[in-house]
Amino acid sequence: MTTADFSLRLGATDNTDVLVVGAGLAGLNTATLLARQGHDVLLVERRANLVGAIRTTGIFVRKTLDDFPLPPDCLGPPIRRVVLYPPNLRRPVSLTSPRDEYRVGDMAPLYEASAAAAADAGVRIALGTRYAGRQSDTFLLAGRDRPTVVRARFVVGADGARSRVARDLALDRNHHMIVGAEEVFELPGSDEPPTFHCVLDPSLAPGYLAWVINDGQHAHVGVAGYADRYPDGLRRAAERFSASAPGLTGVERPETVERRAGPIPVGGLLRRISCADGLLVGDAAGAVSPLTAGGLDPCLRQSELAAEVINDALCTGKPETMTHYDGAALRSRFRGRLMLRRGLARVRTPTTAAAAFTLLRTPLGRAAASRVLFGDRSFPDPTPR
Ligand SMILES: Cc1cc2nc3c(=O)[nH]c(=O)nc-3n(C[C@H](O)[C@H](O)[C@H](O)COP(=O)(O)OP(=O)(O)OC[C@H]3O[C@@H](n4cnc5c(N)ncnc54)[C@H](O)[C@@H]3O)c2cc1C
Repeated sequence: MTTADFSLRLGATDNTDVLVVGAGLAGLNTATLLARQGHDVLLVERRANLVGAIRTTGIFVRKTLDDFPLPPDCLGPPIRRVVLYPPNLRRPVSLTSPRDEYRVGDMAPLYEASAAAAADAGVRIALGTRYAGRQSDTFLLAGRDRPTVVRARFVVGADGARSRVARDLALDRNHHMIVGAEEVFELPGSDEPPTFHCVLDPSLAPGYLAWVINDGQHAHVGVAGYADRYPDGLRRAAERFSASAPGLTGVERPETVERRAGPIPVGGLLRRISCADGLLVGDAAGAVSPLTAGGLDPCLRQSELAAEVINDALCTGKPETMTHYDGAALRSRFRGRLMLRRGLARVRTPTTAAAAFTLLRTPLGRAAASRVLFGDRSFPDPTPR
């Protein structure tokens, strides 16, 4: 099935059990789980297809790969090696795990495979259809041909970091964000073992990291950080990094590269993420690791809880069931990661970054880095009730 098959034409009005806004991983997964439980689900996405305007590098961590059946042909080769660099790129710290730690998703086919699974489950998917707001007890959609007024028992805001649904439901919204940008290109082949290179340099990536992932099939070269701390803008920093990035010796960057960019909420899970009319999931709910900025694992894990709670509310007819979807309760499990985020945000000068490397080169520093990079932690398993 291809994107063309998801061009559902909506009428002037529509009725559904659940309106899901946004066909990222969070929206696709929540919609599929709800449809499998027998509910009528309408999934709307403002992009005309699922293969353009991709915003993520697509790194999946071991725990996600262990717990969720992602299509293997949509995943790059396993990566075990991570190399950490100070600003001058000298004396890097190299760490190798005995296990396969990461795989980079080939995101375009992965989104399409997820959409095909959603359609198989019975989800009605309308691409090129923007959620435009709420009007008393209906939701407004702006489609390709005409507007549609939807009556839905619940709405799911899976519409990303700057969620319009969050605003309309008067739920919490993301304020603490970094922005990221990367270039992706195919590699003709590489002698280097698949490696994840990370550079701690606040002039390139203020408050976060610059990265190169070379898994032998693709190179991803990116930077992310606090938008207001880039002296000459994110794009310029990305270009500067791309010109001198480690891990690409002998690799010729093609003229045409794919560019990806977007905001990443790093303030931790939001507290108020549900109400009697709906809930938020994925980036819209701030479900991203504040430290690593990884949000793909949370999309999959949190959508299971979201679907369970909505299913309960639909089956019992008691919208108060939605209160079990409580961000405040889960947020407490992000405490350690929020503390480490504050630490990373404080690395403001190359001298501080270089000093951090003095610690990182000690056995204790290496053990701590291995724990963060190769640990078993993921988005906390939600345990409702
Ligand atoms: C540069 C970058 C690199 C990243 N790399 C990684 C990584 O390697 N690993 C990792 O785990 N995480 C990574 N992340 C974070 C991760 O990509 C996100 O946390 C995750 O993709 C969020 O998925 P989502 O479904 O919640 O939101 P999104 O994927 O943002 O999906 C939201 C969807 O909603 C749609 N939408 C928005 N508004 C409307 C509207 N009004 N009407 C209809 N549709 C709407 C959007 O078009 C979009 O398709 C990265 C983020 C960025 C920006």
